[in-house]
Amino acid sequence: MVENVEAIYQRIVARNPGETEFHQAVKEVLESLGPVLVKHPEFAELKIIERISEPERQIIFRVPWQDDRGEIHINRGFRVEFNSALGVYKGGLRFHPSVYLGIIKFLGFEQIFKNALTGLPIGGAKGGSDFDPKGKSDNEIMRFCQSFMTELYRHLGEHTDVPAGDIGVGGRELGYLFGQYKRITNRYESTVLTGKGISWGGSLVRTEATGYGAVYFVREMLKMRKESLEGKTCIVSGSGNVAIYTMEKLAELGAKVIACSDSNGVIVHEKGIDLDLVKRLKEVERRRISDYADHHKDAKYLAGGNIWKIPCQIAMPSATQNEINGNDARHLVGNGCIAVGEGANMPTTPEGVKIFLDAGIAYGPGKAANAGGVATSALEMQQNASRDSWSFEYTERKLDDIMTRIHASTYETAEEYGAAGNYVVGANVAGFIKVARAVVALGCI
Ligand code: NDP
Repeated sequence: MVENVEAIYQRIVARNPGETEFHQAVKEVLESLGPVLVKHPEFAELKIIERISEPERQIIFRVPWQDDRGEIHINRGFRVEFNSALGVYKGGLRFHPSVYLGIIKFLGFEQIFKNALTGLPIGGAKGGSDFDPKGKSDNEIMRFCQSFMTELYRHLGEHTDVPAGDIGVGGRELGYLFGQYKRITNRYESTVLTGKGISWGGSLVRTEATGYGAVYFVREMLKMRKESLEGKTCIVSGSGNVAIYTMEKLAELGAKVIACSDSNGVIVHEKGIDLDLVKRLKEVERRRISDYADHHKDAKYLAGGNIWKIPCQIAMPSATQNEINGNDARHLVGNGCIAVGEGANMPTTPEGVKIFLDAGIAYGPGKAANAGGVATSALEMQQNASRDSWSFEYTERKLDDIMTRIHASTYETAEEYGAAGNYVVGANVAGFIKVARAVVALGCI
């Protein structure tokens, strides 16, 4: 990191103590920005890095709810409205016990640049709660969502802040959240959320978008190397929304997915993962991935196993942050992996990223590779605004175009800044410049 940027980083760390994931996300972006400040001294003069690293607004609130036995629980809710220079605050809600301010801020910070890369008019935000949806009944989930929205609703609006889902928040949760919003406000403003059900204002392809988009990004990276997905052996971590639709698109484009996981273990099925079964277990029955092995005797379940030790040509981390450390990255590279496409946010530690870049494999960071989800959320907003609904094929074509453009702009920016093939630099610089120009244009506000 160049000297003046390092000093800014140290001030951010001191100002936000204990928020390690936020520090990691900021450092990773700032490390790319030295040459940008040389080309654009006005960004340093106008303190653009400092302004972008400080959220515009941070909301923390109490979420009380009652379980089925009548016991009261208190969770904490968050919404960090990070930057609205390019458009309304946009970014998902995460329900997971690991959630605290540092996680929401890392995700919100990443979201600013990701949203800028889509080329669509959306600012960056993130929210969520330390609530653990695992093992809760439908009614408990509903009561929690209602309590969460009872506070959050006053901060939302079509022209203010439009959340979507993330870990632990899918169609069911968004439905309960919107139901409560509608009840409190007495307004059918489905434009305040994206990722909605198709019957109440949602967009086709939104469910599939993050996973499909990540695969399109990998397809483009391979194209640059005169390679394709056809016949490639792949592993995909996680078995949630992003993982499932990553696996679906990989299979559709001729690749073979041999492993997926959840936080308890890994399923390895050399014949190829049976996606219909994964969908039934995870989306319908809400079970653990270990149950997969009961249906396929030739599949292996590795309790507590490490998915990254399984040899593959393409790896697509689609579970959570820092799931690939230096050792995992070494295993992947050593076993002949040629491409990594991040469906998850910041799934690779800085040491892991360095190993991928040094090895010269095609490495697509989440900020660029998983932007298809939020891009399709913006397409959902366009359909809502025009009271229109587009076909699956039309929407998917738009998603494909957006991902192809994000790939091209990150690739070209990396080249322009003397880091050919380095999509980390490409994504950070291209995203930052877009936001920085807008911040400059809006004045000191
Ligand atoms: P889901 O809740 O649908 O699925 C999450 C999956 O990851 C589950 O299989 C879960 O296993 C696993 N997982 C979660 N936390 C951990 C952990 N600490 N250790 C190991 N495994 C874990 O979430 P999504 O698929 O929506 O999100 C996955 C990733 O993609 C996240 O990083 C998210 O931020 C990112 N992302 C999501 C977008 C979207 O549109 N949904 C958009 C862009 C990025 P288990 O059930 O055992 O917890």
